[in-house]
Amino acid sequence: MTGSIDVGEALTRIKALLGLKGFIADAAGMAPFLEEERRLYHGAARLVLRPSSTAEVAEIVRLCAASRLPIVPQGGNTGLVGAAVPPEDGGAVLLSLGRLNRVRAIDPVDFTITVEAGCVLADVQRAAEEVDRLFPLSLGAEGSCQIGGNLSTNAGGIAVLRYGNMRDLTLGLEVVLPDGRVWDGLRALRKDNTGYDLKHLFIGGEGTLGIITAATLKLFPRPREVETAFLALGRVEDAMALFARARKASGDQLTAFELIPRLGLEMAMRHTPGVADPLSALSPWYVLLEVSSSQSESGLRGALEAFLAEAMGEGLVGDGVIALSSEQANALWRIREGMVEGQKHEGGSIKHDVSVPVSKVAEFIVKAIAAVEAKLPGIRPIAFGHVGDGNVHFNLSQPKGADTAVFLARWAEFNHIVHDLVQRFGGSISAEHGVGRLKRDELPRYKSALELELMRRIKHALDPDGLMNPDKVLQP
Ligand code: FAD
Ligand code: ZN
Repeated sequence: MTGSIDVGEALTRIKALLGLKGFIADAAGMAPFLEEERRLYHGAARLVLRPSSTAEVAEIVRLCAASRLPIVPQGGNTGLVGAAVPPEDGGAVLLSLGRLNRVRAIDPVDFTITVEAGCVLADVQRAAEEVDRLFPLSLGAEGSCQIGGNLSTNAGGIAVLRYGNMRDLTLGLEVVLPDGRVWDGLRALRKDNTGYDLKHLFIGGEGTLGIITAATLKLFPRPREVETAFLALGRVEDAMALFARARKASGDQLTAFELIPRLGLEMAMRHTPGVADPLSALSPWYVLLEVSSSQSESGLRGALEAFLAEAMGEGLVGDGVIALSSEQANALWRIREGMVEGQKHEGGSIKHDVSVPVSKVAEFIVKAIAAVEAKLPGIRPIAFGHVGDGNVHFNLSQPKGADTAVFLARWAEFNHIVHDLVQRFGGSISAEHGVGRLKRDELPRYKSALELELMRRIKHALDPDGLMNPDKVLQP
């Protein structure tokens, strides 16, 4: 490590190292990096740094460590918990990974790809496709989120049911540690039981333990056949009963199982051009279901039709459509995406990203809706998402005509109602978006003192000066 230097000296050396292309110092240029998509947090920074190699990242971190300069890593800045926004005091540097965007290696025989942290998720999916393989992570922000961000939040998305989340998709990592040393853990091994699995500290670490610069990820055979169905159901209990049956009937061919409430469909139709209700009769709940096979002529469609005919015969499913083309399938998926977009146009929205055991999803949703409606008549709960993983995005849109600021001031109050219920069901208050700033102060209420103590010890062991993404995840 460089001996102690003052902050001014460190910043001068960092600028010289990166050159003009490698940093942003003017307020207008920095602004987009200092705020997240929901605009809940506004930060400040001394500089935005844009290194283009692991060596540059390592040198920056060494200089920051020597001058005790805090660092906030940022990928595509699509995170939803304020984790990539620097503190308001302006004392930190923001380290944007976007220029580390090379595919270092792709091996269709090993079914692996090694990419730098700044690669955009959609580009990694495309690179895999070019060698006839699948990189299965898929989520709404895939056109702008980056692999480093996906790793650091252990991103989930719509295909977790079949392929797992980022933790399951990772074989190895390269990480710049808080003292500037580089840990080369880029192994492509499916099996490696040589002690503690260090990569799992950094996956889901939200940038608090080090900076991920590259990763070796798993690839899969590309699906040859995909079938997509949009189904109407009377009760959320029916949706979950259908899930259990579909899983049993289709084995691991079930790729996605997304719950959509009527109000979500309506919001999508109101605010997203081209979104229409594919069914004629109104229904309180819908499921968007996808099955896929890596074999052609797999008989997938026939099996799906037979399965749905049986479910309809028994009254579990009211009505439904199966997409006849990939355009129709895309139109069905646009409902799912439009529902998220639509909520932004309906006033304030208090969010919960929670999970409970899959067998408890229906009961949880029914009880949570009753609890929030009892607290505020007219509130508009939208319970949706990847319920096949036990993950419920339980968002609360403000009552029509209510004052947005007054409604949002009740964020913590509604959090407690919903999260207390989650805890009673043995669930988690963050299923896939992380903790960041948004849930940091909520965490001690739900995690045991022992778990928090172990987390603090790990943080201290790796980052004793607390310079890596300070004040995120754990309270200062
Ligand atoms: P950022 O927002 O830039 O950063 C997120 C965190 O990672 C921060 O703590 C940051 O400090 C840290 N970080 C970033 N890069 C690095 C690095 N190289 N090294 C160390 N730390 C780093 N998430 C899901 O899980 N599932 C979904 O289905 C989903 N859908 C979404 C849909 C939309 C429309 C949007 C806007 C977001 C969605 N998200 C979802 C949340 C978000 O897209 C994911 O969390 C994503 O993985 C974040 O990636 P990012 O590159 O934008 O990370
Ligand atoms: Zn999600």
